[in-house]
Amino acid sequence: MNVLIGDRYSKELASRLEKKLGCKTSWAETLEPTAQELANKQIVLVRSRTTIDEKFFANCPELKLLVSATAGFDHIKISAIPKHVRVVHTPEANTRIAAELTLLFILALSRQLNKATGTIKNKSWKDALSPARELAGQHLGLMGFGRVGQMVAQMAKPFGLHVAAYDPYQKENVFKDLGVERLGLTELFVQSDFLSLHVPLTKETHHIIRRSTIELMPDHVSLINTSRGSVISECELIQALEQNEVAAAALDVFEVEPLSKDSNLFKLPNVLMTPHVGAYTEEALKAGSEMAFRRVEEFITNQKAVFCVPPDAEWAKYLN
Ligand code: NAD
Repeated sequence: MNVLIGDRYSKELASRLEKKLGCKTSWAETLEPTAQELANKQIVLVRSRTTIDEKFFANCPELKLLVSATAGFDHIKISAIPKHVRVVHTPEANTRIAAELTLLFILALSRQLNKATGTIKNKSWKDALSPARELAGQHLGLMGFGRVGQMVAQMAKPFGLHVAAYDPYQKENVFKDLGVERLGLTELFVQSDFLSLHVPLTKETHHIIRRSTIELMPDHVSLINTSRGSVISECELIQALEQNEVAAAALDVFEVEPLSKDSNLFKLPNVLMTPHVGAYTEEALKAGSEMAFRRVEEFITNQKAVFCVPPDAEWAKYLN
């Protein structure tokens, strides 16, 4: 099989595909492979920065398997996937590390880390800050209780946080087994001191955090988003932060990436931001290559496709 490799995959992956599976591999020059590069490929490997739409599929008529080494798949237009093409992803490579960044954000927001470092860098001392609040006994609300949400719950409990979650598609026993309170959406908004988002981007979750839902939250709420940018209406969040209706936010993902240099988010002292680095560790990149190899191996040797896109889940009806 001819395999085109795009974006960040390990060099070792190419040699394993050749030696172990007899594939012929080549690398795409840019993140958006050309028609010439795609023309005779049966397998293509991408990550989240490649747009997968009708034009992409039209350019690779021989395609059988598309692998995306990502947890999310909103860069893939579901309705454009031809019937004869299997699309798979590798969410298990990124779960722990995305949960770790979320925990880091919760800890940093609870101690006003960005304000505190800004204060000392301005040669001021702690009198310029209000005292922080400790984590123990505070309420962490998780919106979305899948792989990352559950891992966050497990990591947060030793800090004494009370963890609750909203996920209408998750089984009851998953909440029970992890000792997490199941709440409705409004209850979650009303009761959370920290609200962390772990949902896929769908028609249902798009802008689920907007002015009208922020109004339900307490003014001291801290918002954390390591899921997908468009789950939040960014301009309405900025307004709420400016008017102290949200105490602080920590964001790894944005409506448009890279974040526009003109964004008002840069001006806000109570916002902590990272440039979509939730899964950007050497280990997770390596795991992505490893999982991608396994997806190709499963497909070539057993004609099997696991972790398919769209997933076999009730919420998948809300995908694009
Ligand atoms: P997952 O599919 O395992 O979990 C998502 C959960 O959301 C599911 O349990 C599903 O039932 C639930 N859900 C769907 N629609 C919902 C709704 N309307 N309301 C509440 N819950 C809903 O996915 P995951 O691996 O846990 O990833 C979660 C999110 O984190 C995804 O958006 C993924 O793209 C993102 N992610 C980002 C990074 C990063 O680099 N920042 C890394 C990993 C994952």
